[in-house]
This record gives sequence, structure tokens and C-alpha cells, in this order.
Amino acid sequence: MVKLYSRYIPQFLISFKTTRSKISQIGWNIISFIYPNVCLGCHNVITEASSVCHNCFVELKYKVPSENSCRLCSKVKPEDSTICFNCHKYEPNFFEAKTCFIYEELIKKLILGLKYNNKMRSIDFLGRQLALKFMENNNASFLDDWKNLDLIIVPVPLHKKRLVKRGFNQSAMLAKSLYKKLKRQDVNVSINFRALTRCKFDAPQKNLSVKDRRKNLEDAFLVKYIDDIKNRNILLVDDVLVSGATANSCSKELLEKGARSVRIISVAHTDKSF
Ligand SMILES: [Zn+2]
Ligand SMILES: [Zn+2]
Repeated sequence: MVKLYSRYIPQFLISFKTTRSKISQIGWNIISFIYPNVCLGCHNVITEASSVCHNCFVELKYKVPSENSCRLCSKVKPEDSTICFNCHKYEPNFFEAKTCFIYEELIKKLILGLKYNNKMRSIDFLGRQLALKFMENNNASFLDDWKNLDLIIVPVPLHKKRLVKRGFNQSAMLAKSLYKKLKRQDVNVSINFRALTRCKFDAPQKNLSVKDRRKNLEDAFLVKYIDDIKNRNILLVDDVLVSGATANSCSKELLEKGARSVRIISVAHTDKSF
């Protein structure tokens, strides 16, 4: 019932509720009484002004970098190597990839929320997680600190046919949310939606082998505005990193057209090496 009801909550009120500090507690209580806040994960009503209830929040599997993480893609690696099997087999073009969560049922639900209902709240929540991940400095080295790289945020593009069908690009929405949150913290980043385009229209990748995914993605992306990226450090934003083939193909094109480096940030990745 609550699940059904929540679909009819006006989006502007949902966004409004996330900025609770700006309204009085009384006003908040009235709105909550009329339009109860529901958890993006389990759809139960929650009293606090967050997007996810406490139970779901503790269930989310954060990706915590450790000595078992591949130094390139941050997936699990064997003990006797610094990189994972996949990076060993197909050396990535990108410098490194960070991710917020392990891809499992709950995070899948939140990402699907981007595509269906609860769009604004899902973007806000996931954008915040991306910003937190961005600010994390694993290597404690000045050169590896993303805040000092003057990065251009570039979303993984959708082919225009798919964009017309879906009506939006979730990576672009996440990129915008990340950008806004970093700007609020005075991080020196910019965003570019036009530099990279997807010029090849393919069937969805999910049932293909890694080899076929890579083949499918050959020459799938094109840098149209070379001056936008020339000699710049790029931060590519994607929702889910599976084999890394998409991120790698984008990186290849960006580097070939003159980008200085490419880093990847994703909401989630599958923590297995292909
Ligand atoms: Zn919940
Ligand atoms: Zn790796």
C-alpha cells in the first residue's frame, strides 16, 4: 500500500524533504504526515529525512579498499599480485577506478530507482555516495589525490537512439549530481556532457562474454570536441562497472584524442574478476 502510495508523491516534495534543514520541524511533520517518506530500498515509511532506512543502510555493501584490492580497478585480486586477473589479461587504459558499493540486490534496487520511480531521491543519495568516494584518498599521495587534479567529469554516454527510448542517461544524471556536490565543497572540477559520444548502437551487453563485450565496444565511442579534453585529466562516471569493457573503450578513445589521463568512478562494481 505504502509502496503504491509513494509513487504518487510529487517529486518536488520529495526533493524538498531532503533539504530538511531549510524548513521548520513543524512544517516537516505536516509534510511527513501527508506524504510519508519511504525508504528507497525496502519502501517502508521512515521518519528521518534520509533516503534509506537504517536497516537498509547497514545492509549496503560498501567497497572498502584493502590490500586485497586491485590497484587498477579495485576489484578483488590474488594475494601474490598487485592487480586482478582481468587487468592482467586485458591491461586497462584508465589509470585507476574507484567504486562506492559491491553490486548486489539492494544497490541494484537503488540504481533501478534511477530508471523508474524515485528518480530525484536516488540521484541525490547515489550522487552523495560518489562525492564521498571522490574525496577518499587511498594512496595518501598528493599526485593520487583526485581533488588536486583539476578533473573534467565526463559521463559514459548513451547512443542517441537509446537516449530517445529511455528519455535520460543515468550516468549523466549521476555525473551532474556528483559535480554539484563537489562544487559545494569548493573542489576544482568541471563537467562536460558533449566531449564523448556513443557512435555505435549495440544490443545490451549483459549476456555477452568479456571477449564479446570488448569486441562489441570496439570503436563504439567518439571524442567529438578534441579541444575540450586535450591534455586534461578526465573522470569518467558510470553507474555499474561489470567487466570494465565500457570504461576501457571510453578511456582508449579519450587518450587517443589527447586526454592526459582517465580515472573512473562508479556507483557499484561486480566484485569478481572475469
Ligand atoms: Zn529500508
Ligand atoms: Zn583489476
